[in-house]
Amino acid sequence: MFVYCDNAATTPICRPALDAMLPWLENYGNASSMYKMAREAKTALEDAREAVAGCLNVPPETIYFTSGGTESINWAIKSGVLRHPGRKHIITSAIEHHAVQHTVQFLESQGYEAAYLPVDKHGFVSADDLRAAIRPDTALVSVMTANNEIGTVLDIALLSRAVKEIDNKILFHTDAVQAIGHIPVLITPDIDMLSLSAHKFGGPKGVGALYIRKGPALTPLLHGGGHERGRRSSTENIAGIVSMAAALDYATRNMTDSIEKCTALRDRLIRGILETIPYSHLTGAPGGGQSGKHRLPGNASFVFEAVEGESLVLGLDAKGVCVSSGSACSSASLDPSHVLLAIGLPHEIAHGSLRLTIADTHTEEEMDYVIESVRAVVERCRFISPLWDAKENCPTERFWDR
Ligand code: PLP
Repeated sequence: MFVYCDNAATTPICRPALDAMLPWLENYGNASSMYKMAREAKTALEDAREAVAGCLNVPPETIYFTSGGTESINWAIKSGVLRHPGRKHIITSAIEHHAVQHTVQFLESQGYEAAYLPVDKHGFVSADDLRAAIRPDTALVSVMTANNEIGTVLDIALLSRAVKEIDNKILFHTDAVQAIGHIPVLITPDIDMLSLSAHKFGGPKGVGALYIRKGPALTPLLHGGGHERGRRSSTENIAGIVSMAAALDYATRNMTDSIEKCTALRDRLIRGILETIPYSHLTGAPGGGQSGKHRLPGNASFVFEAVEGESLVLGLDAKGVCVSSGSACSSASLDPSHVLLAIGLPHEIAHGSLRLTIADTHTEEEMDYVIESVRAVVERCRFISPLWDAKENCPTERFWDR
């Protein structure tokens, strides 16, 4: 059996997105040119903008197309801080994706100061901590909508409100790359900028968007021919943009159904793994019932004591199950994920992490196959692990009893 359980890393392109894309690979017109073929491309571009805006319930002129989540985030944060030349302070959270974290670190190297808000054991940021971190020279706050590793869904409406109540001039950006297309995201007037990426919701790679609320005029990150109303230069990727719009439309129309299916499959997976594998723990917010809405519907993330995450990934690959350990970007490094450390896991436990991210196309049989595969691979890894023998000395009871 082959089961792809790494949808947070990327999703397969959905049929409507593929169908929408193909004609725009044949029509290669440059949307900035004047002849018919180019005008058609320009019309398709603006139709896609309207479709994306419609799915997000925002005006079309607030949508700017980019090359993906990373570019949108870099643009929002780097140009966002430039809006307040006198302010040199940035606030973000300790569990952001590297696209945010490394951008903020770059700005620190350029003379900015940054506060990294702590999170609780489920990955939630407290509004009180956020309020306390705000300074008179705070230029921008960037807190993610949903975490890519542990699937925690943060209360962005509450956090952005808390910022604006103290200082309306501070810009609020949210990295919504893991949320858009998967859960309803309400873009309130307190949210100035929001980043999204097509390949996380059934669209192609290399295309995304930045929502910029009407009002804050962001300086461009990319200078050049003046595309995207002078804010983001480079010849538009019409095929990618049209395809992203089709994917988002499809995801939005099917969202209620998809959330219901994914949640049921996810909770089966979580139950099955926790019940059959000793010393296994769910990371992130609890699944199941009402509280399950604080967890992305497709995310089931765990740590297994006395196991290395990398060995689990390779063992599961041999059984046809695609998963990751920590985030895709950090999986090449030996350091445990900063997200797992931020929720308070000790290093040795954070090393045994496994992230399964499922889709509504999965079946119960596939989930049962995944549960049995994870059980067998964890057992095998522990059998040959010196850590498993030494488990008596492991301080984990104390950690999990907190
Ligand atoms: N932000 C989050 C939360 C992500 O999960 C990712 C991708 O993994 C990104 C940003 C980067 O998006 P992209 O791959 O489109 O650059």
